[in-house]
Amino acid sequence: MCGIVGAVAQRDVKDILLEGLRRLEYRGYDSAGIAVVDKKGELNRIRKVGNVAELRDACQGQDLSGATGIAHTRWATHGGVTEQNAHPHVSEGKLVIVHNGIIENHAELRQLLESKGYTFTSDTDTEVMLHQIHEDLKQTGDLLKAVQTTVKKLHGAYGTVVYEVNNPERLIVARSGSPLVIGLGIGENFVASDQFSLQPVTNRFQYLEEGDIAELTREQVRVFDPTGKEVERDQFESDISHESDGKGEYRHHMLKEIHEQPTAIRNTLQDRILELTIVDSVFGEDASALLKKVEHVQIVACGTSYHSGLVARYWLEQYANVSCSVEIASEIRYRKSFVHKNALFVTISQSGETADTLAALRLAKSQGYMTSLAICNVPNSSLVRESDLCFMTKAGAEIGVASTKAFTTQLVGLLMLVAALGQSKGIAANVIKQITNALHSLPSKIEESLALSDEIEKLAEEFADKQHSLFLGRGEQYPIAMEGALKLKEISYIHAEAYAAGELKHGPLALIDADMPIIVVAPNNELLEKLKSNVEEVRARGGILYVFADKHAQFESDETMRVIDVPNTDDIIAPIVYTIPLQLLSYYVAIIKGTDVDQPRNLAKSVTVE
Ligand code: GLU
Repeated sequence: MCGIVGAVAQRDVKDILLEGLRRLEYRGYDSAGIAVVDKKGELNRIRKVGNVAELRDACQGQDLSGATGIAHTRWATHGGVTEQNAHPHVSEGKLVIVHNGIIENHAELRQLLESKGYTFTSDTDTEVMLHQIHEDLKQTGDLLKAVQTTVKKLHGAYGTVVYEVNNPERLIVARSGSPLVIGLGIGENFVASDQFSLQPVTNRFQYLEEGDIAELTREQVRVFDPTGKEVERDQFESDISHESDGKGEYRHHMLKEIHEQPTAIRNTLQDRILELTIVDSVFGEDASALLKKVEHVQIVACGTSYHSGLVARYWLEQYANVSCSVEIASEIRYRKSFVHKNALFVTISQSGETADTLAALRLAKSQGYMTSLAICNVPNSSLVRESDLCFMTKAGAEIGVASTKAFTTQLVGLLMLVAALGQSKGIAANVIKQITNALHSLPSKIEESLALSDEIEKLAEEFADKQHSLFLGRGEQYPIAMEGALKLKEISYIHAEAYAAGELKHGPLALIDADMPIIVVAPNNELLEKLKSNVEEVRARGGILYVFADKHAQFESDETMRVIDVPNTDDIIAPIVYTIPLQLLSYYVAIIKGTDVDQPRNLAKSVTVE
């Protein structure tokens, strides 16, 4: 969600900024812009509604030389998607800003600034912050001091970079609630929303903490905490190789990422499970001692990550005998919730920057949870840094907005947590063995599921003209039905709802007709007979069924039911295996509908605003 890149260097930075923006595209945005100060001290700014390629085209033939610049991809929150509202914004030709986040008290500040004579050229909250900095610059005479003064007047969230046109060799960077990382170079320094965007120019990074303000020049980076005290922040070298972010042989990132799942899972498991044990230090050095004390698990997440948490609840209670509750981050953070004794607070997020999840973690710290654990795909992200324990999924960069390999590797991490907790509580060794065996077999089971691609591609044609659909599951497959419905909504824009199959008769049966496809997730487990009754309830009312089941479940295709054979698998990992055909289904339906699969409308990858 929104991207920021800034550079102060001795060489032209235009291409670094544009490439940085391109690498941030996966976060989702609706417009883009760049502003560079040239050798003569002139500010050149180009903004475009649309994508980074369009911005790049617009930059062709324009003089955008210059060694200091900032660039931005905007995901509009305040003010429509227009060129006027796109960043960078400029105050009276003197100050330039890019901003990620929301300034909540923008309306009152705007009034005050208008009364002082500032003219607004956009509807954004960002321009309010910019003019306020300008006003404070007039009072303090120094941009660093001005930003330090302004942020005290702001309510809301920001990651921001600002500089003066007549002193472009200094960028001032501030972060509160929105991620920013500093990239350290030799004789040049950078700032961006994530390290991936700066990988072509450096592998040395420094993360800012909440409330930090930094001053970047070519030669140095100084960081100040919210009290104004100069502080040292850890530097680290990224070990992520300059990995290819291309689509390879695939038409979309999402399809590539679906097919990368066996490798992503192998990487996530590697050296972390032995034949009979889980290496519990993968959750952190103190994990073993802490996990022993856990009596309750509270999982908090959003979107797809929330669905992985819901699956984990079934697993934790069934296999580790530990009670578990799961809640959406934007809900738990705004209510008085009950904190169980010796409770482990687990957050799940692909990016580790999800604003609501991060806020829920910060709140949990003041509520008396015993300890916190982040399950996350991005090393050094805010969630990882601020949690006591962490489990890194090794999915690799996930670019498609609709999460696929991050979800299945989260499930792997959660299943390992179940085993580690069970292990520390002395549950039967054969249960641990069952889990480790199932995990070992998972990558090849996923490979078998991927072989369903061609069949599902054909099946997808039957969905293209549909407006609505229903996904059904029972037990731990209910959250998988929810995830299948979410995927279909996200990328094909078909309305999809998931129900616990036993709930059908309490309402949704009224919706059933021949125009409403019903997708059923039906592994051969102890709930199968119950599920079959639910399937019959649908058939009796003329519904068209698509049943994902293994051969042993003994469903027969006929004119009202299409059965898709999913590989037979151990019950424990069945939720992960059954996820794959549902991902493929949503992908191929979206292809037929011609939607923008990797960047579906209105959605962003990393949801860093509330
Ligand atoms: N609130 C700002 C705007 O609407 C920034 C949005 C963003 O994070 O891209 O322009």
